[in-house]
Amino acid sequence: MRDPGRHAGTESPPRLVADAMLGRLARWLRRFGVDVLWDPGWDDAELERIAALDGRLLLTRDRRLAARTVARESLLVTSDDLRVQLRQVFARLGLDPARPPGPRRCAHCNAVPEPARAEDLAGRAPPYVLRTARRLSACPGCGRVYWDGGQEDRAREVLGRLLGSSGPPES
Ligand SMILES: [Zn+2]
Repeated sequence: MRDPGRHAGTESPPRLVADAMLGRLARWLRRFGVDVLWDPGWDDAELERIAALDGRLLLTRDRRLAARTVARESLLVTSDDLRVQLRQVFARLGLDPARPPGPRRCAHCNAVPEPARAEDLAGRAPPYVLRTARRLSACPGCGRVYWDGGQEDRAREVLGRLLGSSGPPES
């Protein structure tokens, strides 16, 4: 069985599940390339079940859940500040902000977008994007279209600043 919470060298990439309070953190981790399941409808029992059965590190803001979880591992996220949360997770997992642990994931659904051709994406992205983008991909989970220089590329720059800067937190 794989160790869910660790990432070093040739070990398998980290796999997480996050509680309802941590949707924003989950989206940012996905953008970085971390596999994070999140659904605001999951209650504590469901979260514990997924973490235990699927070998995932449970991220939670709930001290009681972190203490009593039957998951193999849990991480009590101690701050509401996104930047502090990211740093806590990166430290726990031993992640390097310069080295994503896996392919970039769809922030909305956690699937890995796949390369796509402009002619197959008509009507799903702005026409100028389909004409000019050098790299296009589409999410097999939710259908969103991603392109180089698009919103997700800019998000990654923001993530680098969140992890590197010591200035005031982003709102
Ligand atoms: Zn998606």
